[in-house]
Amino acid sequence: MNSQSLRDLVREHIREVPDFPKPGIMFKDISPLLANDQLFERVTDWMVEKARGSHPTHVLAIESRGFIFGAPVAHRLGAGFVPARKPGKLPWKTVRAEYELEYGTDALEIHQDAFGPGKRVLIVDDLLATGGTARAACDITEELGATIASVVVVLELGFLKGRERLGNQTIHSLVEF
Ligand code: AMP
Repeated sequence: MNSQSLRDLVREHIREVPDFPKPGIMFKDISPLLANDQLFERVTDWMVEKARGSHPTHVLAIESRGFIFGAPVAHRLGAGFVPARKPGKLPWKTVRAEYELEYGTDALEIHQDAFGPGKRVLIVDDLLATGGTARAACDITEELGATIASVVVVLELGFLKGRERLGNQTIHSLVEF
């Protein structure tokens, strides 16, 4: 399967749900993609292939759909897995970054000892929209003294220009809308 046909298959397996979770948002539902075992595997393979060259020591996956892709990608890369969670979920000392969503505001937290200086962190999520979430993930990574290896997402809403908020980070997306 070449990368073009993978892109076509992914597009066919994204369900667009208008006005969810609020009016004016076209939600990209990845459930059909995840339910297709071969496609899910191919997508994680693609993420691993894109990320490998940046030599990550850790995968920082964003709650909650980033966890779905981040865990198998970390496993395949031989990297540690770190969940970036919504406020109040983590039991120990945390660092936090606030961010704006396409549909609201929120914050991400990670444990203070998640990774230390000198580590290389791959940021994984399902979708890049305005880039606020990924920016927050980059900010908490750098606050802990680690380096961002690269950012990998499955879907990108290009018209929201999320890339511009991430400066000169290397960002890979499989399908752009
Ligand atoms: P942003 O911070 O604007 O880049 O938003 C990205 C985050 O919000 C990701 O964790 C996505 O899962 C979620 N998200 C934002 N917009 C959408 C959308 N239209 N469909 C599905 N998820 C979205």
